[in-house]
Amino acid sequence: MFTLIADFGPRRRLAWGRKLVPVTVSIIGGGLAGCEAALQIARAGVDCVLYEMRPQRNTPAHKTAQLAELVCSNSLKSESEGTAPWLLKEELRRMGSGLLEAARVARVPGGHALTVDRDLFAAEVSRLVESNPRIRLVRQEVEELEPDGIVIVASGPLTSDALAASIARATGSGRLFFYDSISPIVDAAGIDLSVAFRASRYGKSLDASDDYINCPFDREQYERFVEAVLSAEAVPFHIAEDRPCFFEACLPIEELARRGRETLRFGPMKPMGLTDPRTGRRPYAVVQLRQENLRAGSYNLVGFQNFMRFGEQQRVFRMIPGLENAEFLRYGQIHRNTYINAPALLAPTLQLRSRPGLFFAGQISGVEGYVESIATGLIAGRNAAALALGEPVRVFPRETALGSLCAYISGADPSGYQPANITFDLLPPLDEAARKRWRHDKRARHAEVCRIALERLDHEVLQTA
Ligand SMILES: Cc1cc2nc3c(=O)[nH]c(=O)nc-3n(C[C@H](O)[C@H](O)[C@H](O)COP(=O)(O)OP(=O)(O)OC[C@H]3O[C@@H](n4cnc5c(N)ncnc54)[C@H](O)[C@@H]3O)c2cc1C
Repeated sequence: MFTLIADFGPRRRLAWGRKLVPVTVSIIGGGLAGCEAALQIARAGVDCVLYEMRPQRNTPAHKTAQLAELVCSNSLKSESEGTAPWLLKEELRRMGSGLLEAARVARVPGGHALTVDRDLFAAEVSRLVESNPRIRLVRQEVEELEPDGIVIVASGPLTSDALAASIARATGSGRLFFYDSISPIVDAAGIDLSVAFRASRYGKSLDASDDYINCPFDREQYERFVEAVLSAEAVPFHIAEDRPCFFEACLPIEELARRGRETLRFGPMKPMGLTDPRTGRRPYAVVQLRQENLRAGSYNLVGFQNFMRFGEQQRVFRMIPGLENAEFLRYGQIHRNTYINAPALLAPTLQLRSRPGLFFAGQISGVEGYVESIATGLIAGRNAAALALGEPVRVFPRETALGSLCAYISGADPSGYQPANITFDLLPPLDEAARKRWRHDKRARHAEVCRIALERLDHEVLQTA
């Protein structure tokens, strides 16, 4: 069995007040988050050890022994200025992200997206890591977390079983998940409230504000909808493990529809305890939309995890009464994913609240996506280095995309937590005056959110670094 060496090499320590601080940080996982963390730590003048289990032990998705392998698409999403994915990348560039520099080197034409040659990208990241004298790369699986030391867990969605068991012990019962069952999210502005209505089942609202928006179906609409769900095209499965992940607690809606025409009406579309104010009657079926805390202006389609292609989801879910013009901020998915219940466990600095020397970064920290994984790697790396140097760790400003991502994963509702990718609904809304001024101009509103974010980053982070 291989146990992580928390204090590697010659034992050098810095005096900080009366405390002695170890100067080596251990990072588990040489993927997107782990490599970014290692480069940030080295840049801060701290030594680190980066453990990567490939090629000795592979994952079901990786195909090479390279560090930072992109396992599926080669896109790091939009580069269109004024979009949320662009903002996150722009903040990372300003923070000196090593992986975004590698992406610049490996860029290939891809329209509005930052697309890369995946081999060149991985080779460039491997070169940056392997040539850095402060980073020691150890090709070995870590099976057990050390009880102390400064450690970043960045072992990704396909964390090895032994390490997952150790993380489960360190984080407490039921706080490590192995499948991601994501339901779609729509922009509030696209919900037609002359059709959909606010109400809680049996009038039981948590704060008397009618927690849900309900989209009511009559029989004919319901039958057409079930037909569309059954005939929708499914996504191809990335890895074999994705195929049979039909847990009774989070079944995809297609599977429910296949089990019988009425099954959805007795499951996520049940109308019990709801009265449509337009008809004074209980609808035949209902789709419930729930606003999540820390997600301004957007709603989750409750229980609508599914395997449909994204284009199909847009077509089929726009058949839901009240969502005919909905804009989808996130589509539903179900896939193999190891991640912790971050809001129950992490501080916005990405430290485990119960053990500040243990950081989580990347997909396992409860984010979703390549760039989000790089972003959390950068934050965990910087904060782990600060801790090693005896300096204060940093919470990024809430107005930035980096700060909003951390605020969400550490502060969202832990019950039914679903990993987040960067969207504008994670960032704080504009003040009343700005919202009024650009009431009919979404692009201008988004540009203003980006301007504020970058200004805060420049003033509060970069100028004080
Ligand atoms: C099949 C699949 C497809 C995906 N497609 C996309 C996509 O197209 N676009 C997108 O934005 N996101 C995608 N994601 C989600 C996510 O963005 C990527 O998985 C991303 O690589 C996550 O970065 P990471 O650093 O957290 O993990 P990874 O990049 O997976 O890195 C983790 C590393 O840790 C290593 N490791 C695991 N356990 C141990 C251990 N015990 N000891 C030592 N090393 C260990 C692994 O070998 C791996 O190299 C996909 C995920 C999966 C599973």
